[in-house]
Amino acid sequence: MTITDFPTTASGVRSPIPDSPATTPGERALAAARFQLAEASRFLGLDDGMHRMLATPRRSLTVSVPVRREDGRLEVVQGHRVQHNLSRGPAKGGIRFHPATDLAEVTALAMWMTWKCALVGIPYGGAKGGVAVDPATLTTRELERVTRRYVNEILPLIGPEKDIPAPDVGTDEQTMAWIMDTYSANAGYSVPGVVTGKPTALGGSLGRAGATSRGVRIAALQALARTRRSPEGATVAVQGFGKVGALAAQYLADAGCRVVAVSDAGGAVVRPSGLDVAALRAHAAETGSVRGYRDADPLSHDELLELDVDVLVPAALEGVITEDNAPRVRARLVVEGANGPTTPEADPILAGNGITVVPDILANAGGVIVSYLEWVQNTQAYSWSAGEVEMKLRDLMENAFRAVAELSAERGLTLRQAAHAIGVGRVAEAHRMRGLYP
Ligand code: NAD
Repeated sequence: MTITDFPTTASGVRSPIPDSPATTPGERALAAARFQLAEASRFLGLDDGMHRMLATPRRSLTVSVPVRREDGRLEVVQGHRVQHNLSRGPAKGGIRFHPATDLAEVTALAMWMTWKCALVGIPYGGAKGGVAVDPATLTTRELERVTRRYVNEILPLIGPEKDIPAPDVGTDEQTMAWIMDTYSANAGYSVPGVVTGKPTALGGSLGRAGATSRGVRIAALQALARTRRSPEGATVAVQGFGKVGALAAQYLADAGCRVVAVSDAGGAVVRPSGLDVAALRAHAAETGSVRGYRDADPLSHDELLELDVDVLVPAALEGVITEDNAPRVRARLVVEGANGPTTPEADPILAGNGITVVPDILANAGGVIVSYLEWVQNTQAYSWSAGEVEMKLRDLMENAFRAVAELSAERGLTLRQAAHAIGVGRVAEAHRMRGLYP
C-alpha cells in the first residue's frame, strides 16, 4: 500500500496507516503517529489532500555511515534525517543514537516534533535524525567519528535557517559540540546556531540541560493541580533514568513528590518510603545503572509500569504502555516524558479507567522550547540569564497546557486529542495561508 491509500479504520477514522502489519517498533510508532494525525484531521474537518500532505514527510535522507573501529575494522551503519514539515519555519528535532532506530521511527518522531512546535507556539517545523548504533559499545573516539561522518552526510539538509538538530536518546552535549564543529569546519566559520543543546562554552543556553525534565515537572504539577492534588507526598514512578528521566525524578522530588521507583535499561528499583534521588543519580553515574542501588529493592521493568502511584513518568522509549499492560496500569496520572510511550490501543483503556495522560507533545516540550531560546540567543549573539530562560519556558509550557486543557474540557477530548487538534490545526492553517507552489 502506498501513502496515497487511506483506509478507513474500525473507528471510522480515515487513516493512512498501511494495512500490512507494523513489525518493527519504529513501524508501530509511525502507525501510531499517523493514527493520531488521522483523528485530529477528522476532528478539524481537514480534506484528504491536506491530510495526505501532513501525513507525508517533506524530505527523508538515508545515509551510510562508515566508521573505523579502534582495531582497524571498517563498519558501516545506517543513519537518517527526516524533515517532516517546514510550513511554520526551519525544521527542528533531535538526533538519536540507538541500535534499533530505523527510518519509520525517525519519521514518527519528526511528525511528533511538527505538532509539538506548533502546539507550544515556536516557529519551527519538525525533524528528527537517527543513527543505528549502540553508543555503549563504541569508544569516545569511535563515537566522535560516527557523529562527524553522519553530520557530513546530512550536511546539505541542516543549517541554522534550515534544520537544527538537538540531543535525543544516546546523544548529549558532547555530540552537539562535534556537530557544531563539523558543520562550522565545512562552512569555514563558527555557526553555533546549527545545533542546540550544546555546552554553554559553545553558546549553549543556560537551563537547556534539564529543560525537558523541568517541562515534565511543570506539566505534572499543572495536571495534579487540575485534580486539586498537592505535589506534597504525591507518589511517582519514573521509567528511564537518562537525561530526561533522572532529572524529572529529581525535580519532582524537589517539588515535594515522593519518588518511589525508577528504572533504566539495566533494571528497576523501588522504595515505598521514597528514594533519595540525588544518591541514586550518583550511583547510576558511577555504575552505569540504577540496578544494585543499596537503599532500595529490585523490581522488574514490567512491575514499575503497574505500580499504584499518583504519577507515572515514562521517559525511555516508544510503545511501552500497550493494550496488554494498560489494564494493569494503576497510576492516576501518566506524564509522557518520552515520545510515543503509549500506543493508540492503550489510550482508550487508560481513559476508560479514569487515568489522565499528559501527552508527549505537551509534557516533554520543555526541551524544544529551551532549544528555541538557545537558537534565538545564538542568532542574536546574545545570552539570557538562567532566570530569564526559566520564565520564558514556564510561560510557553503553561500557555500550551492551558490551551490543551480548555479544548479538552470544551469538546470532551482527551488531553492527547486536544493537543494534536491544536498542533495539527496550526500547521494546516500555515499551509492554507502559504498556498501551494507552483
Ligand atoms: P537517554 O538516552 O538520555 O536516556 C534513556 C533512558 O532510558 C536510559 O536511562 C536507558 O537506560 C533507559 N531505557 C532504555 N530502555 C529501557 C527500558 N526498557 N526500561 C527502562 N528504561 C529503559 O535519552 P533521553 O534524552 O532521556 O530521552 C528519553 C525519551 O525522552 C525519548 O523518548 C526521547 O525522545 C524523549 N525526549 C528527549 C528530549 C531531550 O531533550 N533529551 C526531549 C524531548 C523528548
